[in-house]
Amino acid sequence: MNLETPSMQSSDDSESDDTSRSQAPSFNPAFDSPDGDIGTPILSAKGGNTFFRIHSFILKTTSSWFRTMLSLPQGQSSPVEVIFMEEDEDTLELLLRMISGLPLLPIVHYDVVDKILFAAEKYDMPGPIGVIRLLVMTPPFLDSPFRLYTVACRYGWEEEARFASTQTLAHHLHDPQVRQGLRRLSTDALLDLISLHHSRKESLRDRLNKPPFVASENAASTCGNCNAPLDYHTWRILKFRMIQEIEIRPLGDTILDKGLVDWPEAKACWLAKCPNRVCARSLYDQEPTMRIIKECIDELPRSI
Ligand SMILES: [Zn+2]
Repeated sequence: MNLETPSMQSSDDSESDDTSRSQAPSFNPAFDSPDGDIGTPILSAKGGNTFFRIHSFILKTTSSWFRTMLSLPQGQSSPVEVIFMEEDEDTLELLLRMISGLPLLPIVHYDVVDKILFAAEKYDMPGPIGVIRLLVMTPPFLDSPFRLYTVACRYGWEEEARFASTQTLAHHLHDPQVRQGLRRLSTDALLDLISLHHSRKESLRDRLNKPPFVASENAASTCGNCNAPLDYHTWRILKFRMIQEIEIRPLGDTILDKGLVDWPEAKACWLAKCPNRVCARSLYDQEPTMRIIKECIDELPRSI
């Protein structure tokens, strides 16, 4: 963890910096109450233009980092300390609102979530981390499964990580748009995700080669009705198409919703008949075959 101590200086010293600031410092409206104990510190957002006055009791009880720092002997000449923080005003306000029990402001971007989590971890504030953990399981954050998976893995939220891994199944891991999200992952988290996606393809391939489906290399098959030799090449082509599809979209929904009805490979399969014109028995029963394929996809591993 990159823990950098915010610089501390008395309010008397701050005047020397005023000439370098573009605007006069002011208090954030939510944290400008003059109430507080004698040791109430003033937090300054990054840039030094916005101050937050917050009771030291709140900081000490919600952050072991502040508890340690504010327990250190303070200088007697200045009863009020200005603590210069690395966080920008928006991040600091959100963080302080969470630990103060004030109404929360809307958060809709993962970049904000990341900033809050980074700061909360740095200052050892479990409260805001818990709030964010609940927040990311609500819209619109659920629309970003790779960001959810990243934070869930980063902070050890196992249930959320499993949920997010399932949501990623609608995406191809080799999609260029996904690669940016994958770069944020630890090696273990990335390998777990790759393994999940890969296992769905391999498991489906294995399952489609087992009864009641016809075997891939069953060259000696004959028609059960007329004993004419049969070739199951239409099934082999459809099977190959399904494996291709689940590699691109491991969720498998496009196989069931569209593929087995609309694909030319599927239509050819459902129309295939015994080559003996007198017999002409259908080689595959569309409805039960589709039902069993659905059962196979439903049984595939769904999460890390
Ligand atoms: Zn036949």
